[in-house]
Amino acid sequence: MRVVIALGGNALLRRGERPDATVQHANVRAAVAALAPLAHRHELVITHGNGPQVGLLALQSAADRSLDRPFPFDVLGAETQGMIGYWLLQSLQNALPGRQVCALLNQTLVSAADPAFADPAKFVGPVYEREEAGRLAAERGWTVKQDGPHWRRVVPSPDPQRVVETRLIRLLLSSGTIAVCAGGGGVPVIRDEHGQLTGVEAVVDKDLTAALLAEALDADALLLLTDVPQVVRGYGTPDAEPIGHTTPAQLRAEHFPAGSMGPKTEAACRFVELTGGMAAIGALGDAQAILDGIAGTVVTPDGRPPQNDTDGSQDLI
Ligand code: ADP
Ligand code: MG
Repeated sequence: MRVVIALGGNALLRRGERPDATVQHANVRAAVAALAPLAHRHELVITHGNGPQVGLLALQSAADRSLDRPFPFDVLGAETQGMIGYWLLQSLQNALPGRQVCALLNQTLVSAADPAFADPAKFVGPVYEREEAGRLAAERGWTVKQDGPHWRRVVPSPDPQRVVETRLIRLLLSSGTIAVCAGGGGVPVIRDEHGQLTGVEAVVDKDLTAALLAEALDADALLLLTDVPQVVRGYGTPDAEPIGHTTPAQLRAEHFPAGSMGPKTEAACRFVELTGGMAAIGALGDAQAILDGIAGTVVTPDGRPPQNDTDGSQDLI
């Protein structure tokens, strides 16, 4: 099977953890230990989030007195692709000797007319009290919004339209290469009437880009791996109930929060609706069990467990 895997930025840097390189690198190694067994049987495309990491770089850049202006978000997104991509590349190479692994910088086309530019909604960086958020907004030209009891910076998150390097990724897969790509949803770019690409100040949702890429690459499965084992109906209420197997229509009938589970369920629904394939949401450590249909929240056109066609198939190494 061809499998596109999206790793949660929060699974690579847990909430409340210090963002030191050693901490993040150790989390990446743990993620790779969970994913490497899949590489023996499947073609893998690995994408990753960058929410915590890009927020940190934005703060570092804003604090740099040698700059007239902080670095824009397209550049910061590319920096996180380099950093997380490097850790993933090296960990995968160490875990899978003999396999070709590639970490790519990728751009994701968005529309300049996307309504998200007029309504920034993606939370980045740390939380602030109301007064401090207001002061920072005035000083630095940020947009800030309420996130639960706190305030946080928001940036536009336009809908991804196409990963610019999709054909190159397909070429790499056809030669047996594991592709680490489209990190942080890809660097957001627009294409002008002369065909020229330019970066824009935005952060694309990595789950939606993963769904788009999975569809464009004719993937059989899309795995959205995060820090919870299943999608829960009535999350945080006494009636909370985990969802095992489901359909896009059943998932669309529920409400999930825009900043966390919402994009994952939307991505899973889009992929299954467009391709008839399988999408699943669950914990990083359960990757193989999720693919076997015995863990996570598995979304298929008819809500039935997927056919397990791995028996008797040839290992890739
Ligand atoms: P990632 O970095 O993996 O994208 P997110 O924080 O965006 O992580 O999304 C995962 C989080 O979504 C979980 O840690 C959980 O707290 C939250 N969440 C919100 N609603 C739900 C729900 N209905 N079921 C399960 N988790 C939910
Ligand atoms: Mg997320």
